[in-house]
Amino acid sequence: MKTLKMFLILTYALFIPFFRCQSVTKVLAPYVITEEDEIVLGNQFYQQIRSDEATYPPYTKNSRVIRFVDSLGKHIAASQNDRNIDFTFDIIDDDQINAFAIPGGHVFVYRGLLENVRNTSELAGVLAHEIGHITKYHSRDLLVQQTFVSNVNTILFGNDSASISVAVTALLENMAFLKFSRDKEYQADSCAVAYTTAAKINPYGMNSFFSLLLDRYGDSNKILSSFSSHPPFSDRIKNAQKIIEKTSGVPSKNEWLFEEEYLEIKELL
Ligand SMILES: [Zn+2]
Repeated sequence: MKTLKMFLILTYALFIPFFRCQSVTKVLAPYVITEEDEIVLGNQFYQQIRSDEATYPPYTKNSRVIRFVDSLGKHIAASQNDRNIDFTFDIIDDDQINAFAIPGGHVFVYRGLLENVRNTSELAGVLAHEIGHITKYHSRDLLVQQTFVSNVNTILFGNDSASISVAVTALLENMAFLKFSRDKEYQADSCAVAYTTAAKINPYGMNSFFSLLLDRYGDSNKILSSFSSHPPFSDRIKNAQKIIEKTSGVPSKNEWLFEEEYLEIKELL
């Protein structure tokens, strides 16, 4: 198996331009990075992020806030059946309106986002979207597709811990600003609608948060985060609206928002 994997990684490395094609990546990715590899790699990234306190300062101010985000995320993750994987949810103590997911089930959300969402359903929409990037293997495929193959190779087969950490650092540099394709963003939005509905949280939350960002920054917004206009908010709102209309069990727009519960948490930030 190890020989097969090595062969695939080398083949992949040789034909990088060709394999930029997403469908090829989709077929080969599970062989290049297996479920187990993804967990191992993901845990390494996670530890690296946790230890890089200058770039990713951990939020430590209030343990109730930390528990709230963690339990909300885990509740949504437990409501989906797409992928059985353990999730973690951490807060980065920074003003950016941002959130991102890394391979292996780790989601990070910025304090700036927690300060700007208006109720639990808006936060849930963002968390469910990030969960979708993991359940649909987008983060893993991006790793493969962005062809850090030699680094992945080092991590999986190297014994030199220094070179492993250099490789992981290289991968992490742009982790908070990863860009997925348009289709993958729409697919994660569609997961967000399904997962929040299954978790009995209002799926309109994601759209109302996009509307807030659209009003504030416009479609060609310049906020430097995973929310910067790709695809434009107005298109994502329309797309999610169509999915919501086709989803059964969706409550009316003002049910299941859990606003009071969230405003209490917001006070503690
Ligand atoms: Zn996304």
